[in-house]
Amino acid sequence: MKAHDGMYIDGAWRPAAGTDTIEVVNPVDEQVIGRVPAGTAEDVDAAVRAARAAFPAWAATPPAERAARLAALRDILVARKDEIAETVTAELGSPLPFSQAVHAGVPIAVAGSYAELAATYAFEEKVGNSTVYQEPVGVVGAITPWNYPLHQIVAKVAPALAAGCTVVLKPAEDTPLTAQLFAETVAEAGIPAGVFNLVTGLGPVAGQALAEHPDVDLVSFTGSTAVGKRIGATAGAAVKRVALELGGKSANVILPSADLAKAVGVGVANVMSNSGQTCSAWTRMLVHTAQYDEAVELAAAAAEKYGDRIGPVVNAKQQARVRSYIDKGVTEGARLVVGGPESPREQGYFVSPTVFSDVTPEMTIAQEEIFGPVLSIIRYEDEADALRIANGTVYGLAGAVWAGDETEAVAFARRLDTGQVDINGGRFNPLAPFGGYKQSGVGRELGAHGLSEYLQTKSLQF
Ligand code: NAD
Repeated sequence: MKAHDGMYIDGAWRPAAGTDTIEVVNPVDEQVIGRVPAGTAEDVDAAVRAARAAFPAWAATPPAERAARLAALRDILVARKDEIAETVTAELGSPLPFSQAVHAGVPIAVAGSYAELAATYAFEEKVGNSTVYQEPVGVVGAITPWNYPLHQIVAKVAPALAAGCTVVLKPAEDTPLTAQLFAETVAEAGIPAGVFNLVTGLGPVAGQALAEHPDVDLVSFTGSTAVGKRIGATAGAAVKRVALELGGKSANVILPSADLAKAVGVGVANVMSNSGQTCSAWTRMLVHTAQYDEAVELAAAAAEKYGDRIGPVVNAKQQARVRSYIDKGVTEGARLVVGGPESPREQGYFVSPTVFSDVTPEMTIAQEEIFGPVLSIIRYEDEADALRIANGTVYGLAGAVWAGDETEAVAFARRLDTGQVDINGGRFNPLAPFGGYKQSGVGRELGAHGLSEYLQTKSLQF
């Protein structure tokens, strides 16, 4: 798609206040594929004013009509899914089939789920002598990362619009073209002017201006824990609602009764998917000491098969960061089984699929989020040990448990300090609440729980 040279504000593409631009680079060949404006506080202010002006009418629009607009949005995403996949592939580098299935497919499912929820959600209920209303929070400032560029936008904008909120979006600087394409689909769906606004720009400039804007009622942020902490502090000081979807270091716990080959195979695929740039990736594989060597062999074989099929990471900085984590793993005494820090290609921001064994729970690669195709296999002695290791990081976003029977897996999963757990390879559910325990975040996205983040409660007594 062709890059727009303006901001989408109040229903039209308008010139940016400043002249600075951001280059969009294809991570496969390092070529510049477009330029978008680098927004300033002035652009953010114009977008927030448009969102504020549009709020009363959109909040008063009957939920069935909001649902109809979201259904139209879903249909346009379906009609433009090839273009979406190609755009994500161009700016994120993910292989086209993955972009088609996941980067285009999941947002379509999520937009559809909110079209349905807007029509069916109980925005009003009777409690004794009271009527309780769920009302939209107001103007939402949405700040998103690049790793699932459209999904993260839709996971905020669709529930916000379903709730009756209006939105200003500041997308990641690496993937602004997908965000511009989304703004086009919003316009095509007949969503009224000002209900959705887009300001592209740098995090510390446009992102910060949006998070600090006094007329934003709720900041919904997905990204790193470091930035999330700052946004949480700013919002707290202003007594402003905040939703934070942050980092993760999820455990894939394979209990001795599990189907080992399946658990390891699915586990490796989970980590390599999207080149390891998934906040919920199961980057720590926990295996019982009696099955450890076999699991390492299985994981090595599975990872080797990825070889050249894996896409690059998003940019040179991420590539350097991931490679330095691999170096650190070696320095701290983990055993490199597959892959390593060398770049597998001369051009592009590629990192080899990498597997470490003999990883101990306190090593840096077992504690910090790497955000690349790197798996750490950790040994445990018994169930109590597995639980201690699994819960032994500051994060708690996701995880997996494998066991011979579901009851055993569920009993273990209930003791994990984490927001989402897949049991024996359970499938992604776009209606299941997603979000973190501990430093992985505050609040939930997706489904009815995701919708309620954008609502506030009023009760009338009779
Ligand atoms: P990041 O925090 O650097 O950037 C995320 C967004 O915040 C971008 O739009 C960026 O421009 C903006 N930003 C940066 N500095 C800002 C500031 N000072 N004020 C306001 N906005 C600012 O993160 P990233 O490197 O783009 O994304 C990777 C991280 O995101 C990983 O840690 C990953 O785990 C996390 N993530 C979490 C989830 C989740 O749902 N929990 C999902 C995807 C990614």
